[in-house]
Amino acid sequence: MASSPRTAPPSGALNRRLADSGLRSTPQRELIYDVLLRKRDHPTADEVFVRVKTEMPTISLATVYNGLETLVQCDLVRAVNFERGPTRYCPNLRPHAHFHDERSGATHDIDLPPALIEHVKAILPPEYRAEAVEISFRGSTSR
Ligand SMILES: [Zn+2]
Repeated sequence: MASSPRTAPPSGALNRRLADSGLRSTPQRELIYDVLLRKRDHPTADEVFVRVKTEMPTISLATVYNGLETLVQCDLVRAVNFERGPTRYCPNLRPHAHFHDERSGATHDIDLPPALIEHVKAILPPEYRAEAVEISFRGSTSR
């Protein structure tokens, strides 16, 4: 990965998470994470690329893909998949479901109460251990 002369101030959460995973922070990774935090509309990798490119014109799509993958691996970002669409990226780390509006294409976060998650996990046979519960809705909103 090409290094940039830009020295961004260390962003706490990102640096810590990357270090915990044995990775280092790079200006590219910081910018990708920053772009995700700024507009939380579950962009695809291509959309992240367009946004990042306005601030770092030399960045490649491959670097954006790799950066997103790294952020997913160290649990700072969730990869969200719907049946037919491309992977989308979400920096919201609270337990939440996704509501995919099929008319507008928008994806909304829906907070999940912890009790509900426990309730959902309780339907599993006792020998099954769920590390994650992913709930997604598809439909439309009247707004
Ligand atoms: Zn989300």
